[in-house]
Amino acid sequence: MQNRSDESISIFRAKWVLPVSADPVYEGAVAVKGSSIIDVGPAAVIMEANPGSKVVNLHHAILLPGFVNCHSHLEYSVFRGLLDNMNFGDWLLNFLDIRSILSQEDYLASARLGAAECVSSGFTTVADSMYAGASLDAVNAAGLRAIVFQEAFGIDDGKLAATMAGLSARLDELEESQNDLVEIGLFPHATYTVSAAMYRAVARLARERGKRFATHLAESSEESAYIRSGSGVLALDLREKVGWEKMTREAFGVTPVKYLQQWDVYGPDFIAVHCVNVTDQDVAILAGSGVAIAHCPKSNAKLGCGIAPLPSFLAAGIRVGFGTDSPASSNMMDMFSEMRTAVFLHRGVRRDAEALDASDCVRMATLGGARVLGLDGRTGSLEPGKQADMIAVDMEHNHFMPIEDPYSALVLGGSREDVFFVMVAGRTIYDKKVLLTVDEEKTSAAAKAARQKLIPAHL
Ligand SMILES: [Zn+2]
Repeated sequence: MQNRSDESISIFRAKWVLPVSADPVYEGAVAVKGSSIIDVGPAAVIMEANPGSKVVNLHHAILLPGFVNCHSHLEYSVFRGLLDNMNFGDWLLNFLDIRSILSQEDYLASARLGAAECVSSGFTTVADSMYAGASLDAVNAAGLRAIVFQEAFGIDDGKLAATMAGLSARLDELEESQNDLVEIGLFPHATYTVSAAMYRAVARLARERGKRFATHLAESSEESAYIRSGSGVLALDLREKVGWEKMTREAFGVTPVKYLQQWDVYGPDFIAVHCVNVTDQDVAILAGSGVAIAHCPKSNAKLGCGIAPLPSFLAAGIRVGFGTDSPASSNMMDMFSEMRTAVFLHRGVRRDAEALDASDCVRMATLGGARVLGLDGRTGSLEPGKQADMIAVDMEHNHFMPIEDPYSALVLGGSREDVFFVMVAGRTIYDKKVLLTVDEEKTSAAAKAARQKLIPAHL
């Protein structure tokens, strides 16, 4: 592992370097000093400019910025595969049943498994929604860059003051764990689990404390029915399950996006996750208020929610990044499959091969995601002055040969199995496919033990 205080220069050269903010460089190199990138360009030029530097040859690889996961739930990694064939409403109700089985220790094991998966899949930044309080430890131990969003719930406005006092105290506690790599954010869960007054209060708290905040928005038809007419599985079955059946239900008569617009939530510091059930007017509202979107194509398709209109988001100038969502819904945290799914879905549904191209996908998976999270000053592209957050993807053993277009090779032919090197802030955390910050054996044994508890309940 590289010593972070080592201020000598290391040069990483590869067959292709994809800075993302500039054109690909064939036979390129990136010079790194400490935690930062100091130079990017043709290998011959970089080596001549930095004589005597250590040179790491990544050979027939594509070297690019690490992937940015704009929405995950690391804590739910051991839930994958348990509820694979249910529509969103049923999935949620069943998920709530099994979610209560695990202990805090189990959640930590699950989050650690998820963090390890993210590293080995080439993610260097994750925006994680934390429910049980375990993600923070997991990303810190793995050496990932992250925004850890504390999830919050509350539909009873009679308890709002107490809920907000608790959330504010929780923020104080979490802020003590902030460091160079990890920021804290807030995540009011969704329009059907958080009241309008609480959304307004959370937005105010986030802005007072300078925090980003996010929510699941317009994900399912069940949510749209709940907001528009106060009916459906989220209004009835969900409320009964969580003891909210006596709370007043309202029919707001609008889309989820228009509903949330009324409560002073929208702004450039807010991230809307999903945005599947949106109208053209909703897209204009989101664009006009500077909201960023986390697009989760696999999760949305798998839960039968639909396909978010990504090309419309991009055409409206909205900042968009990819999110893998939770392994409980989308199974794998794999940016290659998110990118590929997006290309096929959007081209297919629009009957237009120009609806989304490979370079758009790689940009969204890196710099676009960093812009969503407000981290683009530090990460998302390979540029002098930015943090050295980068990954190498092996193309030697890839079926996508020969390679003329590295974007196409990554999106249409790449696999997370091809990632063999991951660096965050100049620190190598995955090398030759070995995890350097995670004890793989221990992590997987603890995760298996947690998973074991879920099996009898599910069956
Ligand atoms: Zn989610």
